[in-house]
Order: sequence, then structure tokens, then C-alpha cells
Amino acid sequence: MKKPHKVLVIGGGAAGLVAAVAAGRNGAEVIVLERMDRVGKKILATGNGRCNLTNINIDLKRYHSSYPKFVKGVLNQFNLHQTLDFFEQMGIAYKIEDAGKVFPMSEQASSVLDVLRYELQLLKVQEECNAEVIKIQRKNNQFVLSLKDGRKITGDKVILATGGKSSPNLGSNGSGYELVIPFGHKLISPFPALVQLVLDAWFLKRLKGVKFDGKVSAVADNNVLQTEFGEVLFTEYGISGPPILQLSRKAGEILHQKKSRPYIFIDVFPDLSEDQIENMILSRFSYHPEKSIEFSFVGMMNKRLIPVILKEAGIEDLNKSCAQINAKERKNIVNILKNWQIPIKGTQSWMQSQVTAGGIDVRDIDPNTMESKLIPGLYFAGEIMDVDGDCGGFNLQWAWSSGYIAGEVAAKA
Ligand SMILES: Cc1cc2nc3c(=O)[nH]c(=O)nc-3n(C[C@H](O)[C@H](O)[C@H](O)COP(=O)(O)OP(=O)(O)OC[C@H]3O[C@@H](n4cnc5c(N)ncnc54)[C@H](O)[C@@H]3O)c2cc1C
Repeated sequence: MKKPHKVLVIGGGAAGLVAAVAAGRNGAEVIVLERMDRVGKKILATGNGRCNLTNINIDLKRYHSSYPKFVKGVLNQFNLHQTLDFFEQMGIAYKIEDAGKVFPMSEQASSVLDVLRYELQLLKVQEECNAEVIKIQRKNNQFVLSLKDGRKITGDKVILATGGKSSPNLGSNGSGYELVIPFGHKLISPFPALVQLVLDAWFLKRLKGVKFDGKVSAVADNNVLQTEFGEVLFTEYGISGPPILQLSRKAGEILHQKKSRPYIFIDVFPDLSEDQIENMILSRFSYHPEKSIEFSFVGMMNKRLIPVILKEAGIEDLNKSCAQINAKERKNIVNILKNWQIPIKGTQSWMQSQVTAGGIDVRDIDPNTMESKLIPGLYFAGEIMDVDGDCGGFNLQWAWSSGYIAGEVAAKA
């Protein structure tokens, strides 16, 4: 009988653990090498501890890569339904929430990690923690991995599932890129995505903690790149909240290219037209023409927002009465409320970002097998590749799909 392949999985995150299950199920002897003191730290942090494990609206449009065609085949080969079956058979009952987001019924990310580890135990997969791989070598048709602590581990196949550079406190520090660049793999310059935006504005300290449901757009060179709705939160460095994370991919790309300056446009009252807001202001002014312009907005918007909006509209004297406000000033206020334009200075750092845009160039990877076209026997899985998805379960789906294919093929090939 043919001796089983010995498959070495570098990285015990979402992609690596699923790859290890798939390789184990296909008869391989598998070792997972993880640099942290335990596997799956990032899985535990996903979905605010609830793990948004996929999305029922998986669509190519929700993924970004320099070569988007690569993504299609991978997501079809181990698709949404196979993913849901895979987890259900291991014990994860699931529920679907807003915008198609799928969560375990337990509402615990830890349950996802628990069932994966249980499956690995059944398959006798060996988990080696505190095992950071610092070098990959090819010797006599075998791979020799050098660990930071001096150990050397040999195997027939290697699956590289070391993630990107986002949230390095959870293990992924970009070290995986360095392992394959010496073999000729190219790196599409990575930048943080699904991350808060840093704004260039005088009022940030004053607005820290102010929240509202708004419409936000990322704009560059007078082109609207993307528009999102939802809860926006001002912070001392800039702006945060779910719609901002979604915009951050496009804004981050513009910043990374350094060709033009992106802006954020905020609509504070997306449900009202400019005319409706102006009429509302006029009637408020007519009830109490004696009120200061600042006080006249109390009850219509967050009190801390009022002086900032008025100053941005060019009104310096906030004690001026409503009766003293002329038509031009009133229109300026309406304009700021509907089209508040703020320059974006940057994004928050890798530490705050949820996903890495860019990564290993997928043109050197076979999308049917996830095998390197440059190093036979070496496979890629997950975020290490130049593929990232929107917020909403799309990134974990990428990790599960690419991980499963890599594990299955590595064991069988
Ligand atoms: C806070 C947070 C919340 C998120 N929530 C969601 C969500 O709800 N839904 C969703 O779809 N996506 C979410 N994401 C994104 C998603 O978690 C990632 O895209 C996904 O986990 C990537 O999986 P991966 O296995 O490729 O990489 P990772 O999960 O980053 O795993 C890589 C592993 O490799 C290890 N490693 C790295 N280098 C080495 C080395 N040299 N030697 C050995 N081991 C190494 C790391 O320690 C790590 O354990 C979230 C991300 C964050 C940070």
C-alpha cells in the first residue's frame, strides 16, 4: 500500500485548520505548525466573538484581488453549501441574520474552533503550538521546515496558511510572505482593509463618541467610489462604524497608490431631501426666532454635532439669533448636513485592521488545486493570497474554500 503523504500545514488559523481536516480526511498524516501558544486565536475574535462564518449572498463582486477571476473557481469548488454542510456535520447549527450573514446558533465563535479541533483529534492531526516556521527548503523531493526554536521538520507537502498582516496580536504578522519570496513568488504590496479611517479635521476631539445613522461615501477625483449606510461613529482620530469599515478598502487603495486624495462625504440625514431639511429649519426658526442659532438645533441632532456643523457652514457667532441668519447661511447649513466633505488622512494601523488587501500574487497559484506553479508540492490557503472580501462573512468563506481545496489536493496528489 502507498505510504500516506505527510502534509505540513503552516498556520493554525481558519484556512490552516480546515486544510488540515481536509488532508486528514483524505488519508494524509498531518501536522499543524502554529507560531502562537494556541491555534485559532483569530477565529475566536471574529464577528465580535460570534463568528460570522459565511454569507448566503456569496458573490464575486464582494471580493477584491488584482486578478479577480482566480476567486471564482475556488469559491465554486468548495462552495457555500458545501461549507454549511461541512460545519453542520461537525455540529454547527447556523442562523442567518441581516444582509445574509451566517452565524452559529450558539452565537459563540469558540464553538466553531471547538468542533474543528475535535475533528482534528479524531483524524489524529498533530497540533504543534509555539512553532514558528522561519524557512522552507526543498531537499530530495521533500520539504524541510526550519522553526525559530532550531527544530527541523520534514514532510512531503506544505500548505502555507499564515494569513496576512492584520491583527498581528492574533498571530498573523506577515511572516508567511518571507517564506516564499525566496522561491520567486511575488508580493502584491499589502495594505490594511476593514479598518477605521483617520480624518484630517479640527473637530475630532469634540466629536469623539458621537454616533448617528448616516450615509457615507468615499470620493476621489470627484468620483464616488462607494456609498454605504449605517451607524457612523466619530472617534478622536477619525471615523468608525460598519459602513466605514466597508468603505475603507476603496479609500485605503487610493491612499496606498498615493495618486490622489480621498474624501469622505457624510449625509447626516439620509432620509430627508435638502428641501425637506431647509423647510424643517425654516419652521423651527419661525417658532422661535429669538433662539440662538446653536440652541435652535437642539432636538434635531446630537448636541455635540451642532457647533461643529455650524462652524463648518461658516457661522462663527453661534449666539447669533435665528432671525439674523440669512438665506445663504441657511443653505450652507443644509449643504453641510447633506454633503459634509472631510479629507481622509489615512487608515488605522495593521493592529486595528480585520483583513489584508494584497498578498501573494495569485497568478503563480493554480486556482483548481491551490498549488504553487513555482514550487510543486507547496499549496496556499486563506488570506496570505492577494484576495480579500467585504465585511459580512466573505473573508472566512475564502479561508474555508481555499483551505479545503488545498488540504484535499495535497493529501491526494
Ligand atoms: C477582529 C476580527 C474579526 C473578524 N471577523 C470576521 C467575521 O466575522 N467574518 C469573516 O468572514 N471574517 C472576519 N475576519 C477576517 C477573518 O478572520 C480572516 O480573513 C481569516 O481568519 C483568515 O484566515 P487565515 O487562516 O488565512 O489567517 P489567520 O486566521 O490570520 O491565521 C493565520 C495563522 O498562521 C499563524 N502563523 C503566521 N505566521 C506563521 C509562521 N511563520 N509559522 C507558524 N504559524 C504562523 C498565525 O499565528 C495564525 O494563527 C475578522 C478578522 C478580525 C481580525
